[in-house]
Amino acid sequence: MKVGLGGLIVLVILSFVFKRDFVSLADTGGMSSGAAVEAPPANVSIAEDSLTQFIGSVLDDTQQHWTEIFAAGGQRYPVSTLVLYRDATPTACGTGQSASGPFYCPADQKVYIDLDFFTELHERFGAAGDFAQAYVLAHEIGHHIQTITGQSQAMRQRQERNPSQANQLSVRLELQADCYAGVWAHSAAQRNLLEDGDVEEGLAAAAAVGDDRLQKAAGRRVTPEGFTHGTSAQRMEWFRRGLSTGSVAECNTFQGVR
Ligand SMILES: [Zn+2]
Repeated sequence: MKVGLGGLIVLVILSFVFKRDFVSLADTGGMSSGAAVEAPPANVSIAEDSLTQFIGSVLDDTQQHWTEIFAAGGQRYPVSTLVLYRDATPTACGTGQSASGPFYCPADQKVYIDLDFFTELHERFGAAGDFAQAYVLAHEIGHHIQTITGQSQAMRQRQERNPSQANQLSVRLELQADCYAGVWAHSAAQRNLLEDGDVEEGLAAAAAVGDDRLQKAAGRRVTPEGFTHGTSAQRMEWFRRGLSTGSVAECNTFQGVR
């Protein structure tokens, strides 16, 4: 993918290991016997530096597109911030940990991605390429859109009314974020920002993070009722729908839900 420089990114490299034992600290009246701060913060590698620049420009481009979509509807788009971190980071939604994967926190309206996730995306989930990374970010910005338009909150209220439908409703929200990622990809394609193979990379990433694939990778039997993101086929289908139409209205994954 061809992109310029830029991006509103907070790069938080948390490589400190806090081994302070607060209980024993209190017990010994403040003697910090077991307290230690290990390891200086690791420098960002050259690979991570170029990754950061790339992700920054995708972030800019995605949010620029949403700014235009909102402006066309006479609305202002409030920008989100991306926090790249390592290991763990504080967020308004609790501690973000690399194990939880990329996520969006509605309370501070920020996207959190662990730097190592992109390596994992490639090595563990088999989704390589820069556009796979772009897709992941665009999906998270999709959750930002759902939050500022009130769709996320409406979904949560539906979940409270119908607890048995909670997973199914969550799937619909995730598929809509995939579709929104496609809406942005449509615009990037129209502006000739995509290179050969980019769309396939995006689709492969959408497939790689499908619940059925993740469950299988985790050695579990595939149980659709446990899905919270949708199957690989569903994720590809909705990404493709956004990509082919570029229309937000086409991302009506909640159609038929009361
Ligand atoms: Zn999601």
